Amino acid sequence: MAAAASLPSPFRNMPSCAAECRVRGEATVRRRAKTHANKRCVVKLLGELVASYELGKPGSKASGSIRQEAPQGIYEVFPIRDPKATFRSRRACSDAVHRMLRETPVLEGFDLNRANWDEFLPDHVAGVVFRSLGDQAGRYDIDISLNIWVTVVEDMAECCICLSYLVEDQDAVRLPGCSHAFHRSCLTPWLQRAKTCPMCRAVMPSHVLYSLMHPPKRQ
Ligand SMILES: [Zn+2]
Ligand SMILES: [Zn+2]
Repeated sequence: MAAAASLPSPFRNMPSCAAECRVRGEATVRRRAKTHANKRCVVKLLGELVASYELGKPGSKASGSIRQEAPQGIYEVFPIRDPKATFRSRRACSDAVHRMLRETPVLEGFDLNRANWDEFLPDHVAGVVFRSLGDQAGRYDIDISLNIWVTVVEDMAECCICLSYLVEDQDAVRLPGCSHAFHRSCLTPWLQRAKTCPMCRAVMPSHVLYSLMHPPKRQ
């Protein structure tokens, strides 16, 4: 649950414009009496991953969100063949949680080595799984509700159109894919004429164009 500032980046490929990456995770574990009397148990991993991009300075509280990706749902079901062995110790629970995270497609862009993840999630989850099962691992199915928030803080950048700095209180926007950044007021007239990034000419898919031209209302 700690801030990830001193940890290695959790991304396999950290975006080049990123100055800092913070990860926050929350998990609750619920056990349920098994529906089937056989030996296997089932672990369900459910939840959401939300990634957002903010403009700010490393270490300071970032303001001005410049892009928030649509939440990605997590729903994976893991049959556990030998629950007593799999959950025999806290360490074994931790290994099992790590394995499940590695097999979760939504998380494939992340480097799931222990240094990146134990601090805020798997070890904590493993502890709760271990405590809630005791030596009765064979009797329960387990639901793990997982919410993960990833915030990429990007360095102040220049708008590639007007060449003045993008500052926190201005309406800045970063294009998905190429990551070039602009003032919205500079970018919109361009996009009305061309369907490309003004900087690198990457072609913007129509759904991206639509969301750029119709930004959500600020609260
Ligand atoms: Zn500009
Ligand atoms: Zn570009």
